[in-house]
Parts: sequence; C-alpha cells; structure tokens
Amino acid sequence: MSYITINKAHFKHNLNVIRTHLDSINKNKKIEIAAVLKDNAYGHGLDIMSDLARECGIESVFVKNYYEAICVADKFKNVTFFYGILPSDFDKTKTNIYQSIHSIDDFSVMDKYCDLFNVGVELKVNVGMNRNGIQKSEIEKCINEILKRKMRLVGVFSHNGFGDSDECNFKIQCDNFLEIKEEVLYLSKKMGFNTPRFHSLNSSCTLRSKNSDDDLVRIGIALYGYLTNDIFIESAKDLKPILKLYANKISTKELHKGDRVGYDGLTKINKISKVSTYDIGYGDGFYRINGSKEVKMPNGEQILPKTSMDCFSCFCTDDEICVMDNADYIAKIFDTIPYEVLTRLSPFIKRIVI
Ligand SMILES: *Cc1c(COP(=O)(O)O)cnc(C)c1O
Repeated sequence: MSYITINKAHFKHNLNVIRTHLDSINKNKKIEIAAVLKDNAYGHGLDIMSDLARECGIESVFVKNYYEAICVADKFKNVTFFYGILPSDFDKTKTNIYQSIHSIDDFSVMDKYCDLFNVGVELKVNVGMNRNGIQKSEIEKCINEILKRKMRLVGVFSHNGFGDSDECNFKIQCDNFLEIKEEVLYLSKKMGFNTPRFHSLNSSCTLRSKNSDDDLVRIGIALYGYLTNDIFIESAKDLKPILKLYANKISTKELHKGDRVGYDGLTKINKISKVSTYDIGYGDGFYRINGSKEVKMPNGEQILPKTSMDCFSCFCTDDEICVMDNADYIAKIFDTIPYEVLTRLSPFIKRIVI
C-alpha cells in the first residue's frame, strides 16, 4: 500500500530555522511560532502533524474551518479557524476555538445561529491585499459589536500579500498593520478590553523580516520545508522538506519491442524490458501525467505516461519506490507551487512519522 513519511527531525530543524530567525529580529521578546495546519496540514495529515506540533511545544494553531478546529482542539491552547461561521451546534466547552471575523456582516449571521457569549474571535483586518478582512475604518465598530455580545477579542491580525515579492509593497502593508495595532491599543484603553494578540506574518514574511514586534507568527509552508519567494532569503535555503511519497509494486511484466503500455498505449517499448505498476495515481492527489511532460522519480526513473487514477508504470522492479521527495520539483513541472502539490495529496494515504 502506498504511504507518506513525515520526517520528524526535518520538522524540528525547520522549527529551529524559524526560531533562530525570530530571536535575531527581536531580542527583547520571544515571538511565538504558531503552526498553520489548515487543509489537512498542507496535505501532510492533520492528525499526525498536530501530534508532532504539540510534541514540539506549539501552543497555537490555525486551521481552515470549524471541523478541522474540533479535530485538534484538545491538543492546543489556541485554535483559530480562518474561514466559515461557527455552526449552530458548536461545542461551547471548547473555549480555545476562535473564529476569524472577516466582515462586519459576520455578526448578524452569527446572531442567527448561536448565543455568542464568551465566544473567542480574532479580527482580520485588510492591509491592502483586498481579499478578506474588515477595513481599517471599521475597527472600532467591529470591536463594539464584539463587546456588545460579550465575546472575547483574542487576536487582531492581517495577511501581507507581498511576502514572496516586492519589498516596497511588503513594507507598505507592514506599516498598515503597525497603524492598526496602535489603534487597537488605543481602543483597548478607551473601551476597556484586554489587549489582544497581534500577528501579521506568514512563512515568507517572517523569514524576510528584519524586525517585528508581533506576538506570534503564522508559519505554514516553511514548517513543511518550503518557501516560494522570488527574492533571495538566506535562511530559506536551510529548510528541509518533511514529506516523502512512496508507492508499492502491484505487478511486473516482461514486455517486448513494439508492446505498448497504459491508456491509449502512449508508451512504446523499444527493447525487451521489465515494466512494473505501482499504486499511486491521480486519484491519490498526485498530478496526472499525460505525456506532455516528463516526470522523474528521485531514483531517476521516469513515470510513464499516461498514468491512471490508482497506478502508474515504470521500468523498475523494486517492491517499493519513492515517487516524490520534493514537491518543488513537481510544482515546477506543472507550473504551480508546492502548496498545491502537497494539499492535493489524498487524506486516505497512510502517514507515518519517521
Ligand atoms: C495559509 C495562511 C498562512 C500560512 O502561510 P504560509 O505561506 O504557508 O506560511 C498564514 N496566514 C493566513 C491568513 C493563511 O491563510
């Protein structure tokens, strides 16, 4: 059966790369590393990655929605879900689960569903990416809505749209967040609420920052061993991918010159060869190879086109084969980013920590 390995030592190493960088950019405060475990922990497996994160001392995590939040709520002090409204039957005992507020309209939707007393929320503020989050001008109004309902404002955050590129725009959005922070601190005194935690940096923003006074950073892709910056970042080259995808042999055939393999017989055999099939296909979330691109495995062997939903063929006979040890390689071939290659991996592939 095909499986995925997660390398614990590499995960710890990546955490260390980030820790070292954070300690160098703020000597007065230990900025917390929060793990982003959304989308099945970037395809690595939410169960296994949440256990690993917890073991490594992570206390705050970010996930996609309430259902992912419930899966990990017992493992962490703080669990924030980025998207969706709390369901009407949400578990009131899990006071460590926080909803992100993206729009002032969220409150009226939530009112219809549930009693909001003591519900923790994190307020997302737009710093110029113009994707999600409330406008800066709406901060006071939003906080009012939160306090009116006796909800808890746990955090205020933003997302910088230029982490991977353009220094000037990156800086503008950082400065916008600084202004937001100042305003929230002012409002906390004026309106009498506890200071929330502030955070604005993902992996690439964190590793390129030369200073930060945030309380935590939200690290996703770097923990998994990748970074997709256009600009050169010294610490990024030390990151180590933690995931490898393995397939097992289904069968081997001896084929002769002129034989053809797979759908439409796209691969033609030139000389007598042993061809085996292995149990990974596009149904497992690995890209479909249709012959327009040549894709090789870490052992140098080509994955022969066309691949099937559940298997592929190659000129190998080993019982087991590593199909992918670096999502960057696959991403480049398919004109995408490692995020997409990884998040597509089926949750039904077995995962083991090594
Ligand atoms: C996904 C996400 C992150 C993590 O981004 P990486 O580039 O993987 O570090 C951080 N913040 C928000 C709001 C996100 O959606």
